[in-house]
Amino acid sequence: MRLLIVEDEKRLADVVSAGLAAEGYGVDVANDGISGLSMLRTYDYDLIILDIMLPGMNGYEVCRKLREDGIQAPVLMLTAKDGEYDEAEGLDTGADDYLTKPFSFVVLQARIRALMRRRTSEVAPTIWTFGDLTINPASRRCFRGDTEISLTAKEFAVLEYLASRSGEIVSKTQILEGVWDFAYDGDVNIVEVYISNLRRKIDTPFGTTTIITLRGAGYRLAGDSG
Ligand code: CA
Repeated sequence: MRLLIVEDEKRLADVVSAGLAAEGYGVDVANDGISGLSMLRTYDYDLIILDIMLPGMNGYEVCRKLREDGIQAPVLMLTAKDGEYDEAEGLDTGADDYLTKPFSFVVLQARIRALMRRRTSEVAPTIWTFGDLTINPASRRCFRGDTEISLTAKEFAVLEYLASRSGEIVSKTQILEGVWDFAYDGDVNIVEVYISNLRRKIDTPFGTTTIITLRGAGYRLAGDSG
């Protein structure tokens, strides 16, 4: 899951992005409305955290323009204090929820999960199964039969990305773009490291091959017949 934070208070943006990255999200930051909009038009995001008072273009305008462009990702608006945010205007521009500063990280996480869940239940099943492997994106848990498999946040994010595109062949570059933030400039082969860790956890101990490598093309998860 990849998020964009559009926030001109650098310290707040840094704290929030570091916290969310530790939870396994790919997080990008824009410090003004215009660069935020241009990133939204360039990259695919699963959720947008959008401050209202921004230099250049305010959050309402950014939201209105991204909806005009057909960008459907949920928008969580940030507002400095009670009363600044006009709920009617926010909803009118296509925002999904709003949060008043200062907020706790726990509350922010809960709002993000709720927005993701709402979106997931609209477009995809709540729980993915591949044979007897079960992946639950809402609780971020993974099971082989009745055995829970402990994954790191990033491992889960890679598995979730593959699961959300089940049946498709997904390239290393797509995984990198979907799970890591755009500023990651390391080797695309980091994806291989995560795939191999995942195999060691979800396949090897059970004698299964849920993660299939298609040489030169990428990976896909095998379904019930795979
Ligand atoms: Ca601001």
